[in-house]
Amino acid sequence: MNHGTMNRCFGAILKELGLKETPKRRAILEILAEQQGFLSPEEIWHALRVRFETIGLPTVYRNLEELAAGGVISTIIHPSRQLYYYFCRGESGHHHHFICTSCRRVEDIPECTAATMEGDIATRTGGKITSHIVQFNGLCHRCLVEEEGRTA
Ligand SMILES: [Zn+2]
Ligand SMILES: [Zn+2]
Ligand SMILES: [Zn+2]
Repeated sequence: MNHGTMNRCFGAILKELGLKETPKRRAILEILAEQQGFLSPEEIWHALRVRFETIGLPTVYRNLEELAAGGVISTIIHPSRQLYYYFCRGESGHHHHFICTSCRRVEDIPECTAATMEGDIATRTGGKITSHIVQFNGLCHRCLVEEEGRTA
């Protein structure tokens, strides 16, 4: 990936969301975009400290939350309940993620069948559904093949 192009891109994304483009936010996006998979706030913090020696973990948490709230990055909830962050280059609209708990790869799942359930749930409960969170956890094809090779 050409970094010059990507940087201009990040600037445009942040501007569009009304988020000020700060060197830290830009660095967070760069770190996440360099990864194929998801990173924990602590891992992002370690990577940031190379460039911003005095940056504190609370600052990293706050920036990650702001970027996630703006939809620039995705939140990944690991089965261990630890929160991770992921920079999705794929689907721009509403979609879900299949995460590999072994290698941290993320795959886009564009079909959303949960939306069709919302009407039924609203009818059954008499309430109103405003959103849903769906994430598929497991092993990606590569890790599955590797695992089967080990146990065979
Ligand atoms: Zn995605
Ligand atoms: Zn995997
Ligand atoms: Zn959905």
